[in-house]
Amino acid sequence: MTENDLKFFKDLLDARKEQIQKNINDVLEDMQELQKNQIGDDADHASLDSDKITKHAINKQQSKELEEIEYAKRKIKTGRYGICEMCEESISFQRLKVKPYAKYCIVCREIIEKQNKG
Ligand SMILES: [Zn+2]
Repeated sequence: MTENDLKFFKDLLDARKEQIQKNINDVLEDMQELQKNQIGDDADHASLDSDKITKHAINKQQSKELEEIEYAKRKIKTGRYGICEMCEESISFQRLKVKPYAKYCIVCREIIEKQNKG
């Protein structure tokens, strides 16, 4: 991978990171808004709770993605970026463009997914 390629993917990761942080902030603001409205409104408790759970799940998913982005950025620094962690082959650019923090090549990814399904 050339210097230019690495810069391209670093920018991609940064853009994605910004987007996620914005999403998380939006969710947090929504939740604060909900909590404000919650007082003295017992009728909506049930729907409010399920809404909270959904938002919590979104946050969890996005925090995980943020971690993966940070991890990928560290790999750019150490020169390990774009190399499959299982078979040490290069991960295709096409795949990295879709998922810039991919840890595995498409072949290994499939193996892992099959294993996870049991
Ligand atoms: Zn692999």
